[in-house]
Amino acid sequence: MSAHATVDLVDYDEAVRRYDPVIGIEVHVELGTKTKMFCAAEVEFGGEPNTQVTPVSLGLPGALPVVNGKAVEYAIKIGLALNCQIAESCRFARKNYFYPDVPKNFQTSQYDEPIAFDGYLDVELEDGTIFRVDIERAHMEEDAGKNTHVGGATGRIHGAEYSLVDYNRAGIPLVEIVTRPITGAGERAPEVARAYVQTLRDIFRALDVSEARMERGNVRADVNLSLRATPESPLGTRTETKNVNSFRSIERAVRYEVSRQAAVLDEGGTVIQETRHWHEDTSVTTAGRVKSDAEDYRYFPEPDLVPVAPSRDWVEQIRATLPELPVARRNRLQGEWGYADAEMRDVVNAGALDLIEATVAAGASPAAARKWWMGELARYAKTSDTEIAEIAVTPAQIAQLQALVDSGRINDKLARQVLEGVLAGEGDPEAVVVARGLEVVSDDGALLEAIDAALAAQPDIVEKVRSGNMGPIGAIIGAVMKATKGQADAGRVRELVIERIG
Ligand code: MN
Repeated sequence: MSAHATVDLVDYDEAVRRYDPVIGIEVHVELGTKTKMFCAAEVEFGGEPNTQVTPVSLGLPGALPVVNGKAVEYAIKIGLALNCQIAESCRFARKNYFYPDVPKNFQTSQYDEPIAFDGYLDVELEDGTIFRVDIERAHMEEDAGKNTHVGGATGRIHGAEYSLVDYNRAGIPLVEIVTRPITGAGERAPEVARAYVQTLRDIFRALDVSEARMERGNVRADVNLSLRATPESPLGTRTETKNVNSFRSIERAVRYEVSRQAAVLDEGGTVIQETRHWHEDTSVTTAGRVKSDAEDYRYFPEPDLVPVAPSRDWVEQIRATLPELPVARRNRLQGEWGYADAEMRDVVNAGALDLIEATVAAGASPAAARKWWMGELARYAKTSDTEIAEIAVTPAQIAQLQALVDSGRINDKLARQVLEGVLAGEGDPEAVVVARGLEVVSDDGALLEAIDAALAAQPDIVEKVRSGNMGPIGAIIGAVMKATKGQADAGRVRELVIERIG
């Protein structure tokens, strides 16, 4: 079978029953520095073509590069966030190839001495499972320029009349993050691939090293996939689907390649090691070029740049500035709050994590905070078609409401009425209690009056209770609660009823 023939795909579920998918992901992220990796050309999205260039980024003879310190700092930040070792010394290397968007005929990259290596990233899947992805390396390099092929139907070079090159992007700092082969994902390989890139995107933003906008190409993913017969078999031949630029496409590209490669293998064919293009419109991949092995690039150390040797002090200073990352924060809060896995997952999915954290900070217990936000308030958000964070009640108000319950001034039933008042804009819970007169009747005198009336109205029940049958006592308590409009403390009413009858 030729690599270019269309194949009948194997149904995905069928494919993963018979083959074990192994993925590998390379992510390029454009750093949000003010200037380029090796020169002072400004970096700004959307500039007129070829206005953000210097002799260095145009590759003019004799132009000498200088490393951007901020880019090194950002690369270290990323490495640390991915639990990597940071090299004590590392070098840049020339990756030699000709393409019009690479004016020097080589890309300045890193090869055998990446700045960061041997890390991992814990990725949370939709059902809350944590999947660990091992990171082989994160290295610094520069972006290429951008070719525009004009006159063809597809925007690709085939069929184009002419091509234009914009060097504004040439030399923008990139960090490329390469995973080790990701095994053990099984049928969830597409979801793992997507969640991994999504988590990386969140981290880039949390670190403030990139705007990390997929649609602008700030983050670009290449997805490697191979199949093997069983998890014990050696790795199969992989394909590399280039520049898959949305989370949804990452998932779909993996699924497609699983189905396609399974079909090739089923027919006794061999998967060809090649790059493939993802077609957003038709959701298929097609063959690109047969993949070069690294030696083809004739990498050699960049003679125009000194090695980068970040001092351990500097690395530790950078480590100290790292914000808490999303998954770590969730794990910490779950531990502090004592929520079960399923409870925590529901909280996260409901978008209530920040609200509950703020409610607990305002003094409520984690259990009470969860009860309000995931119960009454989640229902209210749903029926009023609002985001839970947009509801007209603050975490501080919920903490105050719960404090009123805890102090015994209101009971659960009254608390719901107080909440109604708060949601209706009547003010803080305290003010609603006062304005609506919703306090629990704790004055025994008033309660006894209601109890005596209830006892007098139901003498048969009084008889039963007196003869030791406590079952019907609920009817008396219910009558008292009704008479006091729910403002009595049911426990105290019960005590008083028993006293009165006995
Ligand atoms: Mn690269």
